[in-house]
Amino acid sequence: MTLAGDLVEFVRANRPRFLEELSAWIACPSVSADPARHLEVRRSAETAVARMRAAGMTDAEVLETNGLPVAYGSWLGAPGAPTVLIYGHHDVQPEDPVELWHSPPFAGTVRDGKIFGRGSVDDKGQVLMHLAAIEAHLRVRGKLPLNVKVVVEGEEEVGSPSFEAFLAREKERLACDVVVVSDTAVFAEDVPSLTVSLRGLVHWEVTVKGPSADLHSGYFGGLVVNPLEALAKMLGTLRDADGRIVVPGFYDGVPELAPAVRAELASLPFDTEREARALGVPGLVGGEHGRMPLERMWMRPTLEINGMYGGYQGPGAKTIIPSFGRAKLSARLVGSQDPERVKAAVREHLFAVAPDGVTVDIESDGDVRAVSTSRDHPAVAAAARAMERGFGKAPVFIGTGGTIGPVSSFDRILHLPQVLIGVGLPDDQIHAPNEKFDLGQFYGGIETMVYLYDELAEALA
Ligand SMILES: [Zn+2]
Repeated sequence: MTLAGDLVEFVRANRPRFLEELSAWIACPSVSADPARHLEVRRSAETAVARMRAAGMTDAEVLETNGLPVAYGSWLGAPGAPTVLIYGHHDVQPEDPVELWHSPPFAGTVRDGKIFGRGSVDDKGQVLMHLAAIEAHLRVRGKLPLNVKVVVEGEEEVGSPSFEAFLAREKERLACDVVVVSDTAVFAEDVPSLTVSLRGLVHWEVTVKGPSADLHSGYFGGLVVNPLEALAKMLGTLRDADGRIVVPGFYDGVPELAPAVRAELASLPFDTEREARALGVPGLVGGEHGRMPLERMWMRPTLEINGMYGGYQGPGAKTIIPSFGRAKLSARLVGSQDPERVKAAVREHLFAVAPDGVTVDIESDGDVRAVSTSRDHPAVAAAARAMERGFGKAPVFIGTGGTIGPVSSFDRILHLPQVLIGVGLPDDQIHAPNEKFDLGQFYGGIETMVYLYDELAEALA
């Protein structure tokens, strides 16, 4: 273990400046969703580049994409040492509804040990943790223990439409040994955590067609099959009474949890009743019976009906047999489930259970695989040690039920291990009014990153 007392002293002494830098960056309303603010997104990229240069990074520039610009910087002064690629984003969500903010969204306002402002934790503050840590190494020691490349995207909040093409184009420039993504939260305050799995995603649109136009149910009822009823019956065959999806082949590639992982999940503080109340439901009894809520949320696949429509939806009664019924479905994937095979399996199942008297049309889309990094991977183990040193407590390993676009893109284009090390808190109000970054998390995060580069350099040497 490389001692880092000198570096920690530097970052502690410079906390007020780091906070000012974050405030100044928050003041730039880099809202990627709003074309009227795209110049601000560019200005934000330039701010990031200037900050990289000030940190001592030798190459830093704005890189163009098919959309909004990426801020890119590198320091490659450690020949023979491993190379880490750090990902974050500098665009932010819109601030609406602005009247619900207690302080201006585009000004970093410090109160109660937190800095409030749009982008404070998502993701400008988390990018700055890295730039502060890089600066500490370069200022105090004159070098980093490994090569560093930093990519700060400008379109994450609108779904990263240009990012995959950017990665493909810049593959050589971005070559590295490991990707570090800092755009996530920990499980809870005082529960440092590393995200080691994200679910994949596919979807379907199912159309059941009956008569060529809506029919009078008095004249024609009893003659034709009702497409909405047919659709409801078909969808009702997807699960058994225990919530298990019965589509043949659906679970291919879904791993069972190792006993140690199951025990770790069970030990996390998750209050089922409080969560159910917060969600406005009588109980958390969806998904597969007999499995823990966190397992169902992170480690098991889902198959959800996202919408069902057709027939008459206006006021009062209208006695028709609708001409069609339609449903939108989606599945979250885990382990090595293959998106193409899952899409085909559900299609085949629905065709097989379709009743006579209707025709069925199914379109499917999406090809996002689940991404996971083994907790035994040396880079993940190194990140865990860094986090333990930064927060004084060993992190737990968590999953996330969602999909993070850039993480899937890195997986698809660069095929590299990824470490998801973010330090936001669950109550940070990201994407909502009064977004904040807890200063304890910010400063702990800076120290974690100071240690991370040493730990990664040792682990990957
Ligand atoms: Zn984010």
